[in-house]
Amino acid sequence: MNDEFDIIIVGAGLVGASFALAMKDSGLKLALVESVAPTAPAPEWISRVFAISPGSIEFLGESGVWQQFDAARIAPVRGMHIHGDDGKLSLAFDAHQSGLAELAVIAEVRQMQHSLWQALQRQENLALFCPARCASLRLQEEIAVLRLEDDRELRAPLIVGADGRDSWVRSQAGMDAEPAPYRQMGVIANFETELPHGDAAWEWFRVDGVLAFLPLPGKRISIVWTAFDERAAELMALPPDEFCRQVQEASHSALGELKLLGKPTAFPLRLLHLEHLVKSRVALIGDAAHNVHPLAGQGVNLGFQDARELAKVLKDRGPQPDCGDFFLLRRYERARKADILAMQLVTDGLQKLFNNRNPALKLARNLGLSLVGSLPWLKNGLAQHAVGRHLIQSRTSLFSGS
Ligand SMILES: Cc1cc2nc3c(=O)[nH]c(=O)nc-3n(C[C@H](O)[C@H](O)[C@H](O)COP(=O)(O)OP(=O)(O)OC[C@H]3O[C@@H](n4cnc5c(N)ncnc54)[C@H](O)[C@@H]3O)c2cc1C
Repeated sequence: MNDEFDIIIVGAGLVGASFALAMKDSGLKLALVESVAPTAPAPEWISRVFAISPGSIEFLGESGVWQQFDAARIAPVRGMHIHGDDGKLSLAFDAHQSGLAELAVIAEVRQMQHSLWQALQRQENLALFCPARCASLRLQEEIAVLRLEDDRELRAPLIVGADGRDSWVRSQAGMDAEPAPYRQMGVIANFETELPHGDAAWEWFRVDGVLAFLPLPGKRISIVWTAFDERAAELMALPPDEFCRQVQEASHSALGELKLLGKPTAFPLRLLHLEHLVKSRVALIGDAAHNVHPLAGQGVNLGFQDARELAKVLKDRGPQPDCGDFFLLRRYERARKADILAMQLVTDGLQKLFNNRNPALKLARNLGLSLVGSLPWLKNGLAQHAVGRHLIQSRTSLFSGS
């Protein structure tokens, strides 16, 4: 059986799904291929949570899906405390002082995926292929032909790779680049805390990695501890009591005693920079297009902005009938490259600066953090840049619960 579409999207993770939704009023016929259907959210808290920036909330709000998220499972971040490896508080962000309602919100991945999936199932210009596995991709002069393992053939002038860090589309299209492994894992876990977090996030830049606390509703937090492979393996092997003790010690007991909720999990980290995000008939978005260190919590936020920009380029294409035209797709690439590169340079630079035992660097990095903290114009500028400057005009809250 053959199916003709205007755009085939491979991958319905947060980025691919948000792109498909952003294209709902485009008048184009979409196919979305996903190998694994998302599972329904559970009452217990899962440790996969993301910091979502106001720019991303605005994007998700445009297609009406942000409003569908369960507000009781979302926490605002109104302050941020960053500590250098001299143990002192070096930098503090306050949403109000930076002219913002909040710096970010923390949301559960499974909740977001579920709401997106439900919206996709109601989308009229979209055909969902799930569960479906890709077998082969042929890029011809005017068309991309995707064959699925059940022998169904999907044809469209454009295929969008939104299939994550090990993107099959990227490798089939010959757009792969060598990733640079950090030799680190991101260890994530949820805790109940003795003291209230006060809607604040914490970050400790340590020689053995970066420990971040993200607030969840109530007296709960989610942590991401990015540590070198050996240390991460050590952390993962600890009995729960000892794991709690080590996290508490590394955080200088900022939130008092910690009680582990569920089991910790770990993800390998790497940097992936592609020279090109597009070629004729192909565009990459999200982790298929870039991998960044999670210390700034910006991976999926970069992906949402890719989805938003690609949708805008395609919807504003005017008389150009061909969605997969190279010069049209180049507009998307040009619009996204600087933002992606800047985030990769900042996160990679911070990771290298702090995970280094050179004493001269230790002094320089802690002085650097204190200097930023002592210059309000620079600090507020950084906060505003991180959330998207255009959102600063109005100080209204994007957090649906406030
Ligand atoms: C420890 C850690 C913490 C993080 N914290 C944050 C944070 O706080 N904030 C933030 O912004 N980012 C964070 N990130 C980054 C974030 O996880 C990623 O950037 C984000 O998940 C990428 O989304 P995506 O939709 O591009 O890819 P994915 O989430 O990987 O989705 C890809 C989808 O494609 C499907 N798929 C794959 N291959 C195929 C195929 N061949 N055929 C069909 N379907 C396929 C998969 O099933 C999946 O549904 C963190 C990352 C780590 C490791």
